[in-house]
Amino acid sequence: METIQLGLKQIIFLIALGSFSSSALYAQEDQPEPPAAETKQDEVSESDASDKEDKEKVKEEVKKDKKIKDLVKDHEVLDGIFKLYRDPKSGALTMAIREDQLDKDYIYFSHIADGVTEGGHFRGQYMSQKVIKLVKYYNRIEFIQQNPYFYFDPASNLSKAKDANISTATLSAHPILASDSEQKIYLINVDDLFKSEALDQVKPTPDPKDKPGQNFQLGKLSSGKSKISEIHNYPKNLSVLVNYVYSNPAPLNAGSWFDITDARNVTVKMQHTLIAMPENDYKPRYDDPRVGYFIDYVNDMTSPSATPWRDMIHRWNLVKKNPSAKLSEPVEPIVWWIENTTPEEIRPIIKDAAEAWNIAFEAAGFKNALQVKIQPDDAGWDAGDIRYNVLRWTSSPRPPFGGYGPSFTNPRTGQILGADIMLEYSFLTRHLTQSNVFEDTLLETSTAHNNTLSEEALATFKNHEQSCQMANHLQLNNMLAHTLAMVIDQGGDIDAKNELVKESIYYLILHELGHTLGLNHNMKATQARSYSTAHDIEAQSNGLAGSVMDYPAVNFAPRGKKQSHYYSVRPGDYDIWAIQFGYDPDLNDPVAREKHLAKSTDKALAFGNDADDMRAPGKGIDPRVNIYDMTDNAIQYAEDRLKLDAIALSTMREKLIKNGEGYQELRNAYLIVTNDIAWQGRVISRYIGGIYVDRAVAGQEGATAPYTPVEIVKQRQAMRVLRQYIFAPDAFMTDPKLLQHIAIQRRGFFHYSGTEDPKIHSRAGQIQADILNQILHPRTLMRIVDSSLYGNNYSITDVMRDLTSAVFDDDARGIVNSFRQELQIMYVNGLVGILKGNDHDYIARSNAFENLNDIRKNMARWRGDAATRAHRDHISFLIDKALEVYHG
Ligand SMILES: [Zn+2]
Repeated sequence: METIQLGLKQIIFLIALGSFSSSALYAQEDQPEPPAAETKQDEVSESDASDKEDKEKVKEEVKKDKKIKDLVKDHEVLDGIFKLYRDPKSGALTMAIREDQLDKDYIYFSHIADGVTEGGHFRGQYMSQKVIKLVKYYNRIEFIQQNPYFYFDPASNLSKAKDANISTATLSAHPILASDSEQKIYLINVDDLFKSEALDQVKPTPDPKDKPGQNFQLGKLSSGKSKISEIHNYPKNLSVLVNYVYSNPAPLNAGSWFDITDARNVTVKMQHTLIAMPENDYKPRYDDPRVGYFIDYVNDMTSPSATPWRDMIHRWNLVKKNPSAKLSEPVEPIVWWIENTTPEEIRPIIKDAAEAWNIAFEAAGFKNALQVKIQPDDAGWDAGDIRYNVLRWTSSPRPPFGGYGPSFTNPRTGQILGADIMLEYSFLTRHLTQSNVFEDTLLETSTAHNNTLSEEALATFKNHEQSCQMANHLQLNNMLAHTLAMVIDQGGDIDAKNELVKESIYYLILHELGHTLGLNHNMKATQARSYSTAHDIEAQSNGLAGSVMDYPAVNFAPRGKKQSHYYSVRPGDYDIWAIQFGYDPDLNDPVAREKHLAKSTDKALAFGNDADDMRAPGKGIDPRVNIYDMTDNAIQYAEDRLKLDAIALSTMREKLIKNGEGYQELRNAYLIVTNDIAWQGRVISRYIGGIYVDRAVAGQEGATAPYTPVEIVKQRQAMRVLRQYIFAPDAFMTDPKLLQHIAIQRRGFFHYSGTEDPKIHSRAGQIQADILNQILHPRTLMRIVDSSLYGNNYSITDVMRDLTSAVFDDDARGIVNSFRQELQIMYVNGLVGILKGNDHDYIARSNAFENLNDIRKNMARWRGDAATRAHRDHISFLIDKALEVYHG
C-alpha cells in the first residue's frame, strides 16, 4: 500500500505544482531584475511583483507590431523540434512555435546535471516527467500541464464529462512578441520559461517542522545570477541546461563546508527536456500485482470494478524484426553506454553483467535485445544527453545513493524513453565517511547508509519510488564479508576478496539495470533458495535467489562450509519470468498472459516489494519479504551468521591490528559486525506475529489464503534465537582488549563537539531496543491478537511471557551484569509505556500489566550483590510508581 499512497501523493503534488503559477507569469520567488536591485526586490511581496510584471508585459505588447524576421535579424538560429533564436548581445532566447505544434501533447522531463546533496540534488537525479500542451490564447502562448491519471471509456456517456473536477495546470504564459501570419508561426521569449521554476520546482519545499537553521536550505532563486548554460536542439527533442543560482546573504546553516563552497550562492544545474510524443503503435501493458513493475497510475472513471485501474507498466518498446520468428532481434535494441569515466578494469564486468539480462529477453522472444558499448573519450555527446542510456561513474563528496537506476516514460503509455544508471566510486571503498561513528547513524533503521539521505529525505525526491540503496547495501555487505574473511580462519582463502568485489559489482549492475527495464524490488526473492543449498555452488546455476532485485545478506560461508557465490551472478527465475510478462509479444493475448501469471505460486517466482517489506519496526507483515535475509529458512541462516559475528568479535583484535598503523580499520570492523548483529536480529524478530501474504488470485493452482499466520514452531524458534544472541547476559560481552583498541584515527579538529570513546552499552542497547520495538510495536501486538482468530497459535500472553523470561530469567539467581541492567530497565520502561500510553490496545495493556506485576514480585525475591540489589530495587521503584499512577 505504501508505494501506492506515495504515488498518489506524488500525483497530488504534481497537480498542485501548477496551481501557483496560474495568475503569476513566473513561479519563482524573486523576479527578473538587475543584480544590484536584488535585495530590495526580495522585500516586494510576490503578488506585487507579478502585478508589476504584468504591466511591463502589456507595454511590451503595445510596441509589438513586428515581424519575426525583423526581431531575430542578427540572432543565432538553433534549429530543432522548436526553432530557437539567441540574441548575440544579451543571450536572450526566443522560441518560434508553429500553428501545427499547438494543442498537441509533448513530454516534459527534467533531471539534475549537478547539485549539492545537502540541498536536495545530485548528478543524474531524475526530477519529473509530465505531459504538456502549448495552447494559444489570444495574444499569448500558454504551457499547460495535462493530467494523464484518469481514463474515460469513449463509448461511455460519462466521457463527455471527462474534465469534471480534473484540473490542468497552467505552468507559464508568454506574450506573442511577433507572428508570421502567412506561415502561422508565433515568437515568444523563453528565457524566463527555462530560468524560472515554472516548468518544474527545483528548490525543495522546506519542511515546516524544521527549526530555522536546523538543516541546510537553498536561498532565493536569483534570476540575475542564473543562466542558460547549454542548449541542444534536435528534431525530436530540445534540452536546455540551466544553472540555477540560489542566494542567501546570511545563511543560518552553511551546510557541510566540505561540499558546499559558499552557502550564500549555491548552483544547481538542471536540464529541461521537451520531447515529441512518440509516434508508434506501442501498446501499453497493464500491471498485475503478482509481478513487480514500476507503473504509471491510471484510474478508469467509467468502470464499476472494485479495482478500476489501468496502471501501465514501464517497459521499452521492443518490436520483433521478424514477428513470426520464435526468437528475433528487436527492430531497435536497448543500447547502453559505459561512461568514459569508468575505470578500465571494471568495464568488462559491467558489460558482462548488463548483457547477462539477454537470457531473460531470449525467454521473451528477443535476441540481442540489450547491447552495451563504451563511450569513446572523444565522443561528440555528453553523458547527460537523454538520447543515450548511460552507465555513469562518479565519485561524489556525499554520495546520495551509490547506485541509482532511474528511467523516464511516456506518461500516456508507460513506454520507457530513456534511462541512466548512476554508480558511485564510494561503493568500492572501505571508508566510513561520517565522523562520529559511534552515533546511532551506522545502525541502519532502513537501508539508508550512514552518509546518505534518510528515508524521509528520500521521500521528498520526485521519482523516489525508483530510489535504490543497493550500492550502499552492497558496500556494507562487502565490508562485513571482507572483515569476516580476514578474522575468521576459513582455511586461508585470501583471494576470495577479489571474487567478492567482482561479484558485488556484477550484482549491482544486474540490479540497477533491472530497474531500468521496469522492474521494482523483489524483497521476497531470497526465499527461492533452499537453506540446504545456500553454500552449494553446484545447485546455484540459476542464481542465489529468485531475483537480483532483492537486497540479500551476503552469502558468506559459515565455518566448515566451502565458500560458493557471495551474490547472484545472473538474473534469477523470477527475473526471467517477469521480463517475459513485460516484453513477450505472445503475451499480448490475455489468455496466454493469465496462463503465464498463474505460475506465480511457484516458490522460485516469489514476489514482494518495498511496500511490503519489514525493514523497520512496525512496517510490513510478511517476514519473508525483508532485506539482509537469505534462504527459505531465514531464521536458521541468520543464526549461522550470528555465530560467525560472535567469533569475529572475539578474533578481530588479534587479526586486524597492524604495526605502524592506527586502529580505524579495527573500529570499522567492530561497527560493521555489530551492525550485522542488529540486522540479523531484525530478520529473525519479524517472524514473531508475522503473517505470510499470498498475492495469488482466487482459484489459482497452488494458491493459499491471502493471509496465513506464521507457524508457532517458527515463531518460537525466532524467540529462542533472539534470547540467545540478542538478549542473553553474554550477548554483547566481548574481549575487553578489543574495546580498549577500537580507536578513531584523529583528523584535525574533528570530534570537537562529541567524545570519541566507544559507546559500548548504548550500541548494545540500540540493537536490543530495535528488536523490542518490533515485537512490542502496537501493530505487532494487535496483529498477534487479530490473527489468533485465523490460525495464529502463539498468543500475546505467551509472546510477552517468553519475552519477559528472555530478559529476566537467565540471571535470575545471580548477578545482573551492566548490559542486562540496561536491558531490563529498558524493557520495564517499555511495558510501562504500553500500559500508560495511548498507542496500544487494551489487551496489550493488560498483558503489560501482568508482566510488570510478575517482574515486581521477582525483584523482591531475587537479590544478588550490592549492584544487583540496587538495580532490582530501582526496577521495583519504577513499577510501583507506574502502577500507583495508573491506579490513581
Ligand atoms: Zn534497487
